[in-house]
Amino acid sequence: MSENRRPPLALYIHVPFCVRRCHYCDFAVTRSAEPPVDEWLACLARDMLEWSEELGDPGPIRVDTIFVGGGTPSLLGGAGMESLAELLAGHFEWEAGQVEWTVEANPGSLTLDAARRWRNLGVNRLSIGVQSFDDGALEWLGRLHDAVGAAAAVERARAAGFENLSVDLIFGLPTGVARSWGDDLERAVSLGVTHVSAYGLTAEPRTPLGKLVATGSVRMPEEDQYVDEYCNAVNILSKHDFKQYEVSNFALDGYECRHNWHYWIGSEYLGLGPSAHSLVEGRRIWNVTQWSAYRDAAKSGSSVREGRETPTRADRRLESLWLGLRTRRGIDLAAHAIEAGLIRHWVAEGWAAMSDGVLCLTPAGWLRMDGLVAELDSRLANDDD
Ligand code: SF4
Repeated sequence: MSENRRPPLALYIHVPFCVRRCHYCDFAVTRSAEPPVDEWLACLARDMLEWSEELGDPGPIRVDTIFVGGGTPSLLGGAGMESLAELLAGHFEWEAGQVEWTVEANPGSLTLDAARRWRNLGVNRLSIGVQSFDDGALEWLGRLHDAVGAAAAVERARAAGFENLSVDLIFGLPTGVARSWGDDLERAVSLGVTHVSAYGLTAEPRTPLGKLVATGSVRMPEEDQYVDEYCNAVNILSKHDFKQYEVSNFALDGYECRHNWHYWIGSEYLGLGPSAHSLVEGRRIWNVTQWSAYRDAAKSGSSVREGRETPTRADRRLESLWLGLRTRRGIDLAAHAIEAGLIRHWVAEGWAAMSDGVLCLTPAGWLRMDGLVAELDSRLANDDD
């Protein structure tokens, strides 16, 4: 496909470094207080070269959104982000003032100088990993910052000229961790953020938290608490005019994350860095997960790709249901050949709403989304047989 016919895509860059690993974290990260930024950039350049070969030297690729995620991208500082921007400008093009350019930041490493330099580059959205404004909860989670530091980071971002500000908050902590989830939500709102991502804590088996749960040293909360806290987020944030536009995401009008919408509506995205995933020309392609393996492959001139696949019809149907139902856009019943009778009980139970042939899950539906999607997919698969 020529560059001119390709709609501007979503570009993701993975920064695989964190000062230390939080107790619950299962992401592709490596401990490093002073990341080898030049080495990482050289590997990204090699990754990009592979893309040029894959796409037949397409020339500059137009991008609609850029998302620098991690890990801890704020460890790049001002100079690291400037070098990254220079590298990207050699391969991609975007319209200044039109692009949505997000960087994830942790409160402890987001300096005013770095935030100002990012803003000058055209970064216009920050997503800050706050998780809680409660010191006890932050310590229990293994975070490096405290509540004062979290609020100060939001203030620094604003002082640097960012008004499109998101915070991540985490709920579903064990009952032994004395924290008020409602207070955390109110605190975020009072700081004037425009977007909140609220994620439920999960105890992944490989993490320190997962091991404590497996030995019985920590008990994860009962389902009732999880449901209550999720519903609290919906109620408190909606009271402050935040609209829930996806299972975990809430925004004031005009501040939804455009980058994530690219994933959810199934448009193309291209990822650079360890563990980055891409969907390009109907193919899913993903990179090796660990930084050391990615670095060694890039340095030796081998491929940094770990796998690729072309989704089957069944894969595409499941993904389309999954992505559509997680957002407020929902799914069009006719486009998916779904008989209204199949989902009538969802509406009766209050899990979904129907309007003009479009089915959307309610917050009660989002709480049981896995089961609902699996049920619908298997009914449709049976109809295919
Ligand atoms: S800061 Fe984020 S990516 Fe890094 S260890 Fe903690 S949870 Fe994982």
